[in-house]
Amino acid sequence: MDGAGPPTLAVWKFASCDGCQLTLLDCEDELLALADRVRISHFLEMSSAEAGSTESGGVQGRAALEGVGPYDLSLVEGSVTTAEDARRIRHIRGISRRLVTIGACATAGGVQALRNFADVAEFRAAVYARPEFIATLDTSTPISAHVPVDFELRGCPIDRHQLLEVITAFLAGRTPGIPSHSVCFECKIRGTTCVTVAHGTPCLGPVTHAGCGALCPAHRRGCYGCFGPVADPNLEAMVRQLARDGMSARDVVRIFRTFNAAAPEYGPVPDVAARLAPDEPR
Ligand code: SF4
Ligand code: SF4
Repeated sequence: MDGAGPPTLAVWKFASCDGCQLTLLDCEDELLALADRVRISHFLEMSSAEAGSTESGGVQGRAALEGVGPYDLSLVEGSVTTAEDARRIRHIRGISRRLVTIGACATAGGVQALRNFADVAEFRAAVYARPEFIATLDTSTPISAHVPVDFELRGCPIDRHQLLEVITAFLAGRTPGIPSHSVCFECKIRGTTCVTVAHGTPCLGPVTHAGCGALCPAHRRGCYGCFGPVADPNLEAMVRQLARDGMSARDVVRIFRTFNAAAPEYGPVPDVAARLAPDEPR
């Protein structure tokens, strides 16, 4: 992007299942075309080099995991769950001209942010034989809670077409053409009958970011919000509708806390649900 050789791309992993990095690998043909226009300088998931080896351009030890940069575009998957993560993302931000977060983990804490509402010490003791060896934070947080982010791409996992649009847009120096509308628009575009209106099925489509093509409503089930929040969601209207469709306050909180539990947009949900939804399912 600075005119000296092809722009460089780096892909980073934090706490995650790797599904969003696999989406990039799944691009296959498009990835080959992309490889002609960009130098993929750091992508451990795609590399046969082991961390600490000298295969990746002579980079050794810690640098193999953290990169030396500078990189024109960094894609970051995963959330911050340890003090080491928090230090590493600041380093990566420092060596990246543009930083884009990909997926529910990186943009909204991921499934692992369910810990934010529970006792981490209890989880640790239940899961690990020697919990004293596990160093972890009490929270799982989005990357934007730690460093400035140039663009957030939502989804669990992300959509490959949206990912390619984001990469090509940043390499061309333009704003990505990612629609900011809700899943409801995608239902209308594909001609899917609204499951809430037609069947009274609880559905988070009105407050969920587009990207999946309204996959679940097309199969006559409600959206459970895996693409995360739209900007400025109308939670009052959404919770009122979920209550009308039979959900209790507890269930409303639970459905919002599935994949995007630490999304700041969903922060008010417990208060709104306590006011507007019944204690027991109807
Ligand atoms: S957002 Fe979903 S698919 Fe992507 S890494 Fe996290 S858990 Fe996996
Ligand atoms: S849960 Fe919602 S956002 Fe996720 S695939 Fe289904 S309709 Fe799309």
